[in-house]
Amino acid sequence: MEQLPIFFQLKGKTVAVAGGGAPAARRAELALRAGARVSVFAAHLGDDFRALVDDPHFLHEKRAPSAADMAGLALAFAATGDRASDEAMAALAREARVPINVADTPELCDFIMPAIVDRDPLVIAISTGGASPIFARMIRARLESTIPVAYGRLVALVGSYRERLGQRLSDLSQRRRFWERALEGRVADRFLAGREDEARAELERALDAADDTELAQGEVYLVGAGPGDPDLLTFRALRLMQRADVVLYDRLLPPGILNLVRREAEHIYVGKEPDRHAVPQEEISAKLVRLAKEGKRVLRLKGGDPFMFGRGGEEIEALAAAGIPVQVVPGVTSAAGCSAYAGIPLTHRDHAQACVFVTGHARSGGGLSLGWEALVQPHQTVVIFMGLGQLELLMHQFVAHGGDPALPAAIVENGTRPNQRVVTGTVETIAGAAASEGIVGPALVILGTVVTLRERLVPHGGPVSDEPGIFSNAHIPATMTPV
Ligand code: SAH
Repeated sequence: MEQLPIFFQLKGKTVAVAGGGAPAARRAELALRAGARVSVFAAHLGDDFRALVDDPHFLHEKRAPSAADMAGLALAFAATGDRASDEAMAALAREARVPINVADTPELCDFIMPAIVDRDPLVIAISTGGASPIFARMIRARLESTIPVAYGRLVALVGSYRERLGQRLSDLSQRRRFWERALEGRVADRFLAGREDEARAELERALDAADDTELAQGEVYLVGAGPGDPDLLTFRALRLMQRADVVLYDRLLPPGILNLVRREAEHIYVGKEPDRHAVPQEEISAKLVRLAKEGKRVLRLKGGDPFMFGRGGEEIEALAAAGIPVQVVPGVTSAAGCSAYAGIPLTHRDHAQACVFVTGHARSGGGLSLGWEALVQPHQTVVIFMGLGQLELLMHQFVAHGGDPALPAAIVENGTRPNQRVVTGTVETIAGAAASEGIVGPALVILGTVVTLRERLVPHGGPVSDEPGIFSNAHIPATMTPV
């Protein structure tokens, strides 16, 4: 971070502003709104000060500020519009160790003025670290239009019940859960619909009924996080990620996604290497049960979809057996994500009427778990998860069971991530190509003539790595349009 965002208590403190124009008036007004006494140093005050001059906390000094004026100031602002005067004010403040803000001059600032969305007592401050004030204003405009004005009053309502709830529920996480239920449920609905009295009554009822044991019950969110691109998360996944007390995550989960988990949540890594089961599955399931029994909201975050070779089924069984409530959120499986971002449709009218998902990582190392006869069928696409480790053997057996050695094949490594790579070839050549390209995974293998459709989007001889999922220069032939 370029600066530390903090909210500064100004009540009863004194702030000095140098300048008599609009920027100075804006700063003076904000300081007054925050409860400060404000001294404005300016020969003349412009029209923008008209609404401020009668404020009992407002003082106009018709002169330039001096060193003596800096004594006891909480903050100082320079916004005279004149570089030399601003610098003089900044020098005085710095000498007296008073934090200074100089309008439009970041290099002289101890602190910057953020763009503000004011739903008092809810206040949102936005900064771009000085990189682009316009961008900050754009974000503010967006927030202004999406955050209801009533939110401010709703926050105030919550604030007025804080103490009572504190007496009712001593445990912090139970209090948080109480508020989340209230604010995501009927209380907020009524309040935002303008029925504040009903909302208040509802809140009273909820407060009376607030039950330690019910609120002490934890739950598990089994969430599919998609193949890597955070944009592929579902809204529901994001909502639960923001609510978790603790998160258990895998090796395949990219950091971009973990960053979206609630900041205070405890992170527990339970990653499994393909050949080295770091944490055995039974232990993960037991851990989920134990954490939920402690009353925590446990986020089990899985790459792709939880039930696509993700052992989500086993975890659900363990949780159900222990009587722990579970919410399941599907995710974009890597099969869908990788194929789409690589420009390979898994089914296609002219190419494949079926698609088979298999794991190449057999429990006992004995080939694919599905019968080979089913895999070598024509007019279908075969997607192999965890197939990189024994790719050569797999392709060999594919041919040995009657599969076409010339069948087009692709490997998508780090699908949907910025470092996505796609290698294409045939059943016969793909293992060698993967080795010579240094593919290390995670990687998905796709077999079938649909692979050739990629060539129309990414012409042959194009770069092995490309911008995942974006085919802006491609010539898309008519046969690619949906029918
Ligand atoms: N539940 C996951 C799959 C877990 S098995 C899903 O729905 O996608 C792990 C295998 O998934 C990896 O060995 C690899 O074959 C595949 N995989 C997962 N993420 C991937 C990615 N971003 N790129 C390529 N393959 C991926």
